[in-house]
Amino acid sequence: MEKRIYKAEGLILRTRALGEADRLVTLLTWEEGKFEAVARGARKIKSKLAAGVDLFTYGRYTFHRGRTWPIITGQDSLERFIWFREDPDLYPYGLYMAELADRLITGQERCVDVCQLLLEGWRLLGQGGDRFLLCRAFELKLACYTGYSPYLDSCINCASDNAQAFSPREGGLLCQSCQAADVIKLDAGTIALARRLIEAPLAQARMIRPSARQKEELARLNNAFLAYHLDLGELKSKRLLNE
Ligand SMILES: [Zn+2]
Repeated sequence: MEKRIYKAEGLILRTRALGEADRLVTLLTWEEGKFEAVARGARKIKSKLAAGVDLFTYGRYTFHRGRTWPIITGQDSLERFIWFREDPDLYPYGLYMAELADRLITGQERCVDVCQLLLEGWRLLGQGGDRFLLCRAFELKLACYTGYSPYLDSCINCASDNAQAFSPREGGLLCQSCQAADVIKLDAGTIALARRLIEAPLAQARMIRPSARQKEELARLNNAFLAYHLDLGELKSKRLLNE
């Protein structure tokens, strides 16, 4: 980021009020990774920037290098995911994907895969269908894209194929003889389901019909794995989803 004026295509992950009328937004961009930028005057009623810097917006932005933060000088909204605002049931799901991406991407590393995943996730949430599996697939793919792929092929310790317990600490499956204290026992179907969610396109997650047991085990697997490897802290969306 050397030029004084530059452009980037990105998704708005988070926004907060700044000063009298400005907005500080966190963007996840294809070209520059994640960073914060100021939308000056965006909280004024007549602001031309306002609509383009809302949470859940995908747009093309022009920035001017500022002293503390880059300043957004122009924007062109490509997609605005307004259904997250209009549907209170849907809102926590859209927010969850944004918050998770925000926590997993820490700096200005390139994150094209994550940008694409989040954009697709927001689009699919709006199309209806099973949100549970869509979110679990999103979590698994996001973990893989940010370097935390869970190892689900065989025992991570001895390569035995007969491994049906997952260790969050090891980040993979363990067989009976290698088992540690912290493992989560998984049905073979749950392991196959998790593998499929990682490998298949995100859209396919809505077409899979797992059993209640598989859903329950998958949620435990993802929660334990994410909690162990990432300091997620309190997510506002998670609280809303639990209510
Ligand atoms: Zn083993």
